[in-house]
Amino acid sequence: MKKRISLLGATGSIGIQTLDIIKDHPEEFQLVAFSVGKNMEETRKILKQFPVEAISVLHEEDARLLHKEFPKVQVSFGDEGLVQIAAHTNADILVNAVLGSVGLNPTLEAIKKGITIAIANKETLVTAGHLVMQAAKVHNVPILPVDSEHSALFQALNGEKKSDVSKLVITASGGSFRDRTREQLKHVTVKEALNHPNWSMGSKITIDSATMMNKGLEVIEAHVLFDISYDDIEVLLHRESIIHSMIEFQDTSVIAQLGTPDMRVPIQYALSYPNRLHRPHAKRLNLVEIGKLHFEEMNYTRYHALKLAIDAGKIGGTMTTVLNAANEAAVALFLQEKISFLEIDEFIERAMFKHVKISSPDLETILHVDAETRKTVQNMLK
Ligand code: NDP
Ligand code: MG
Repeated sequence: MKKRISLLGATGSIGIQTLDIIKDHPEEFQLVAFSVGKNMEETRKILKQFPVEAISVLHEEDARLLHKEFPKVQVSFGDEGLVQIAAHTNADILVNAVLGSVGLNPTLEAIKKGITIAIANKETLVTAGHLVMQAAKVHNVPILPVDSEHSALFQALNGEKKSDVSKLVITASGGSFRDRTREQLKHVTVKEALNHPNWSMGSKITIDSATMMNKGLEVIEAHVLFDISYDDIEVLLHRESIIHSMIEFQDTSVIAQLGTPDMRVPIQYALSYPNRLHRPHAKRLNLVEIGKLHFEEMNYTRYHALKLAIDAGKIGGTMTTVLNAANEAAVALFLQEKISFLEIDEFIERAMFKHVKISSPDLETILHVDAETRKTVQNMLK
């Protein structure tokens, strides 16, 4: 039986690579529904290649046009559309590769339907990880990580007891500005920040990698997924992005997962789990060619955003919602060239400082705090 897949964010970097995996394994996987934002050119291409049952777009006008062109496909739009795709009745697994905390509600609705979640959309786990994990437990739904570090941790944990884990070690490439001091970051441009040394990704996560907020979000994501205390999660600079993360056990053994920096590997593993599938034409890891791997201690002063994220995680409650929403809003302002690179951290810190944490927030509280934080950040511009 083929696994039926619904996909949020099909036109994005992870979305397109997910489609590659589905194309490579037509006997294993079938795309049944997908969502996009505004990229109609790419949407038309996907619709011509994949005979899906339903799609969703951001704007109503685009939905109307697509419905005329593809009358057999059910077309919806907006937030409600995202939920319809995520919880598509016919799907076995949802690949959530949408960008930002808009992915939260659709994820919760898919879980309620018993659909397995392959999650790339880390903002959802940062903003309200407790709600996702609780719902997954209640409905007995697996949450499979797509993020490369978390896929590595998930693989290293395979068959191990959680009580034997002494720490998680998450590796970080250092992003576009790893060879610059904080002083040298004052006047960097959007174009420079978008130039990641190892990975080719969407713009928001590339900026998050340059500020190191991406690693901060990943520390929270790891805490949520694996239920490990923040004091037992370490971040290590590793320029080559070959070791994707590792786990140290109480007997001092360390299990790491290695591979070339290619997101299709963790995407495919989440889709094929618990099996592994051949990857036609994929580049194999050649350690002789690479020769040396490097590791450095993380500098939390240089990468202030990482410190902010860990602080938010330790404070807990709605503070991670504020961290995430402030970061999404500030990165959007940086990409629009309305604020400087270092103002991203500054705006997030100010938003966190203003917020009084609410413990164990429900969905309504999370959505309210998320929206209020975005307004707070917009007001900082004035
Ligand atoms: P992209 O920006 O490349 O793609 C985002 C996707 O989401 C696009 O399909 C976009 O549609 C859609 N989208 C954006 N905003 C909305 C919205 N408001 N409503 C509906 N759809 C929307 O992002 P990435 O693929 O890089 O990242 C996706 C997620 O995966 C993020 O959470 C990221 O942190 C995570 N991730 C990404 C990795 C990577 O290598 N790229 C690695 C690990 C995690 P459109 O373009 O049509 O407007
Ligand atoms: Mg990652």
